[in-house]
Amino acid sequence: MAKWPHRRKSCLEWGGLLDEDGYGRVKVNNTDTRSLRAMFQMWHQVELKPEDVLLHECDNPKCFNPHHLRKGTQAENVADMDAKGRRKSLVATHCPYGHEYTAVNTVYYSDGKKRCRQCIEDRRKLSKKATNIT
Ligand SMILES: [Zn+2]
Ligand SMILES: [Zn+2]
Repeated sequence: MAKWPHRRKSCLEWGGLLDEDGYGRVKVNNTDTRSLRAMFQMWHQVELKPEDVLLHECDNPKCFNPHHLRKGTQAENVADMDAKGRRKSLVATHCPYGHEYTAVNTVYYSDGKKRCRQCIEDRRKLSKKATNIT
């Protein structure tokens, strides 16, 4: 395993595949998981339960610096989002970008969440552009 920069203050941004929320994804034991969960478990040598959520102290979803993460509960996460005014409605009719979740525009993921197809497409184009530039 790569050596982690010790007590690095700045964010470590995931350079790989991102999901719709901007979180990095990585395969661990053939299970697609959020990279930050994997990093957190490796770094702190803990097993996260499905109900455990990771809270970003830096509020950067791309960041997987274990020092910027702490284990919390979903309630805390919601409270955190409330405090930051980011709470999303549980039964969303539109994606965060205002695209309607129609039958055609809705993609259901294995985690039960729905994603906006329009946004997936947009993101794909964006990441393509980004790779071309670099
Ligand atoms: Zn960070
Ligand atoms: Zn959308």
